[in-house]
Amino acid sequence: VATSTRTRTSAVDSVLAEAVELARAAAEQDAGGPVGEHLGVEVDDDRVLTHSFVTLDPAYRGWRWAVTLTRAARSRDVTVDEVVLLPGSSSIVSPEWVPWSERLQPGDLRVGDVLPAPAGDERLVPSAFAATEPDDVDVIGELGLGRARVLSRYGRDEAATRWHEGDRGPHAEIARAAPATCSSCGFYVLLAGALHAVFGVCANEYAPDDGRVVSADHGCGAHSESIGAAELRAGPPVLDEFGYDPVEHR
Ligand code: SF4
Repeated sequence: VATSTRTRTSAVDSVLAEAVELARAAAEQDAGGPVGEHLGVEVDDDRVLTHSFVTLDPAYRGWRWAVTLTRAARSRDVTVDEVVLLPGSSSIVSPEWVPWSERLQPGDLRVGDVLPAPAGDERLVPSAFAATEPDDVDVIGELGLGRARVLSRYGRDEAATRWHEGDRGPHAEIARAAPATCSSCGFYVLLAGALHAVFGVCANEYAPDDGRVVSADHGCGAHSESIGAAELRAGPPVLDEFGYDPVEHR
């Protein structure tokens, strides 16, 4: 949309204002058929004016054909400057365009898609073998042999928070009902590196999280010591001297 700093209001040019049929013909040529009622004129500038017509195309309800006409000074020859279809307040228009990098959501990547991390991705830092500046290296992180970049502190913290607060952290329903936590489970395989204190991988094929990263305070009923842990948690059995179980007598 062009903006103008002009403050002077141009008068309606009568030659252009009367050229309704010329404007209609231009709109019908672009529409490929008739256009509807003439909605009026809008003055754009000296000797520049726009006629509007209702569109009859059912796919463009509420839209209007806008035909801008102009003429040279001291000439009565009217020229069609532009023909466009413009939305009105009730028109269906596409949502505002958002770059793909902002539209992308976790889980959108499909087989065959390529999604390289951009050069300035703050989740990554150069590995010790690729860094050109000593300050670039994350000294408490990995050296990253064979890799150009490794996780930055930010990337690591972000992943740790996401994992811990997710379905494989301590707040998951299955973890709250578990007899014990992963930290005491024989199937818990510790991660290497800075994340090893809090995360590991579940290696129990009967657990719903088999093959996934779980937090040390996650847990499930397939805990390797679940029987002992459940007993421990439930306390000693209660001896009931008064109750009885009905049995069938033959
Ligand atoms: S089996 Fe259950 S408790 Fe054990 S590591 Fe896997 S998720 Fe954790």
